[in-house]
Amino acid sequence: MGRSKVEYATDQITVYNYCPHGCIYCFWRIPLMRSRLQRIVPRPLEEAERYARMRKPRRIVVSFTTDPYPPEERRKGLTRRVLEILARAPQHTILILTKNPKLALRDIDIMHIHGNMWLGTTVTTLRNAHVLEPKAPPPQSRLGALREAHEEGIRTWLSIEPIIPPFTELAEIIERSHDYVDFYVLGALNYARQLGFPEPSVEEYFRVLKPALALLWRYRKEFMVKRELCRLLKKDLTELARR
Ligand code: SF4
Repeated sequence: MGRSKVEYATDQITVYNYCPHGCIYCFWRIPLMRSRLQRIVPRPLEEAERYARMRKPRRIVVSFTTDPYPPEERRKGLTRRVLEILARAPQHTILILTKNPKLALRDIDIMHIHGNMWLGTTVTTLRNAHVLEPKAPPPQSRLGALREAHEEGIRTWLSIEPIIPPFTELAEIIERSHDYVDFYVLGALNYARQLGFPEPSVEEYFRVLKPALALLWRYRKEFMVKRELCRLLKKDLTELARR
């Protein structure tokens, strides 16, 4: 079974074993990680079947190590089949995570049937995506798709990860999206050196986080600051808000 290494889920199902988006902050760019990931042979349908039989509620992300909606999903429909199987398991919370949520809207009928499938996307920047995520659908289109899902009664979530100061306009992303995003995840830039980025300083993180957290509290949004980012800051959130 795919136990999840991310903190917002207990489990994960990887559907495809490659990702077309070419993000320059992707862990796939690190040779050691890539060779490990390439050894994984996803069995998404079998895993979905096993989860469908499992009574104990799980929180399952589809998918974390690659995007579940690459262009070929239009033809293959593999992610759709995974969701169809999971639709028989309303005891679980399903968190879909894709940089192509417009294509995921095709499966909104299944999200409705299940009742607890959340549609999520990642936005790390509004204005620098052509540099950071050159082959992914533009962030405006991703946010537009979340808005559409929200208007259709689907819960939505937004992963703002990795935060890369000064590229990530964190507060602005929240300001623009809070009307239709139910849950936010904020995370640090991991493996900065291996990826060729300068390591962001604590002060840089504080600068972008402080106004962003103030907005999340003002709009009473559910959110999670991932462990690694908290560890870097070495502060708890209450203390952070006072600074
Ligand atoms: S969408 Fe995720 S898995 Fe795909 S290239 Fe970007 S960071 Fe990597």
